[in-house]
Amino acid sequence: MEHTPRNPDRYKTKSCPTCSKSHKKRGKFCSRSCGNSRTFTHKERLSRSEKLTAHLNSPEALDQRNAVAEQGKLSMAKIRNPDDADLQAMTLDDVYVPPLTLNLNVDQFVMDGDIWTDAD
Ligand SMILES: [Zn+2]
Repeated sequence: MEHTPRNPDRYKTKSCPTCSKSHKKRGKFCSRSCGNSRTFTHKERLSRSEKLTAHLNSPEALDQRNAVAEQGKLSMAKIRNPDDADLQAMTLDDVYVPPLTLNLNVDQFVMDGDIWTDAD
């Protein structure tokens, strides 16, 4: 939708940097879509791709995928067993425990299921 200024001569005539259309609106661009459009270079696209791929391969993203999968299984089980009151009351927390992630200090290690700290 085109916005009509109260005073059409309020802003000088200029050319939109995106579509080259001449306009007298506020700002550089003729429209919101021109103002929001942007062309990414191959390098920028590659950089974004690498960061996204790294995220998708991270333990956090895997946990998230597992949680979504478990939520789906629970939802399907509830649909298939509408009369199972215990099942209907269950939430994701009842069926999915995310793996424990340890943030160990450099002088700490795990042995026989315990966290040990180097004493020196
Ligand atoms: Zn434009």
